[in-house]
Amino acid sequence: MKKVRYILVLLISFGLIVSLMPINAIDFEVEEEVWKGICSQSSISKDNIENCRQYADFLQDRVKDSQDVANKYKGEINKYKNDIAKQIEIAKGFERKIDEINAEIITLNNNITTLENNIVKIEADIEARKADIAEKDRIIIERMRKTQSDMRFGHEIDFLIKAKDFSTLLASASVVNDILDFESVQIKEINRLIAKQKEDQAAIELQKETVKLNIISAKNKKADVVVLKSEVEVAIKNYQESVMELAALQSQATADANAVKKQMDKINKALAAVETSKNFVRPIAGGRISARVWAYPAPWSAMHLGYDYAAPVGTPIRAGANGVVLASYDACPTTGRLGNWCGRPGMGGGGNQVFLIVSVEDKIYGLTYFHMQSGTPIASGQTVAAGQIIGRMGSSGNSTGPHVHVEVLYLGNQTIQEYISNWNGRLDHSVGMNLSNRCHLNGYRSPCRMDPALAFGYD
Ligand SMILES: [Zn+2]
Repeated sequence: MKKVRYILVLLISFGLIVSLMPINAIDFEVEEEVWKGICSQSSISKDNIENCRQYADFLQDRVKDSQDVANKYKGEINKYKNDIAKQIEIAKGFERKIDEINAEIITLNNNITTLENNIVKIEADIEARKADIAEKDRIIIERMRKTQSDMRFGHEIDFLIKAKDFSTLLASASVVNDILDFESVQIKEINRLIAKQKEDQAAIELQKETVKLNIISAKNKKADVVVLKSEVEVAIKNYQESVMELAALQSQATADANAVKKQMDKINKALAAVETSKNFVRPIAGGRISARVWAYPAPWSAMHLGYDYAAPVGTPIRAGANGVVLASYDACPTTGRLGNWCGRPGMGGGGNQVFLIVSVEDKIYGLTYFHMQSGTPIASGQTVAAGQIIGRMGSSGNSTGPHVHVEVLYLGNQTIQEYISNWNGRLDHSVGMNLSNRCHLNGYRSPCRMDPALAFGYD
């Protein structure tokens, strides 16, 4: 009994390992040159068509990655450009400040010149007054000398004798004294003026010192601003270098994407071999429609972008038409619950998912299948035929019971090959996860959301 159990465990383990092995065993990253050679030939052998389709998908993924990288760089470049614009504004501010300070310095220098001129003028005035005093001194000394010599040589006797009377004599003597007094008053006045001018001169010197200090502080301020400005200029230069580096990376990424696209154009012949279907195939045979499109039934009435088909877990889900598997997701447990947001990023709540692009009567459509059983979604990068099993019924993600949710997006009348080579990588094909782009309301202008009843033939 123990042995049997041991063998059972071994068998189950083996089964698990086999089922976990990837379906696609080719590592295109390693064997790229080989497959590029094989798939670029004008005719691809029947045995290689499926591999070349997978190689095409591998390249498509890489285009997508490169575009993502390019977009990322573009975003960063815009950010840096904004920063540069800001820094340039700051630098301009400093520039204006420097201009202001330069004007201030010029004004202060003019003030100094004016003050210096005033000082020169005052000094000249003082010199003139000093000369005036010297002249007065000379005259007084002259007069005194004259008076003294007159007296010394008896002139005073002569003077007295010649005087008519004593009062005349006295008057003559007082005249001399008056003259002497007058001269001394004048000299005093001149000295007072000189003292005042010296005071003025000292005040102006003080003013000049103040202006000189102002100039020094303005020059220091200017030096500070010049340093700030040069720092900002260095920042701008660094930003600009970053932008150039990012632009180089961006153009590299774009070049990579373009190179891979070119290569894809060569091998897309394999994809072009997908034939258009005559009509749509319903997701499950039988089953019950549990909710129709645009809104859930009352009392919920919330927005509903697809049709819900309820059937037991494991019921096969079938491809709606001939096409390709654009993407799939298989990382959610089979059973989810209300408010479980498991699913592809941006498609949370959809659980295990499959996204197809199919062709019906030469028009192409995006088909979305949600809530699949764990381990059943078909891998991306394969062509599918109408009715082929692409997964099984589950209740993964935001779901209350086993069902499949199906959305139909009308994408226009190009070929699948054309659409994929220009695909922007969005799984909602840019219609948005809302009701704003419904085909019957916009005159079937692609891309738009289509009523699944129209595709699958319900009244
Ligand atoms: Zn639904």
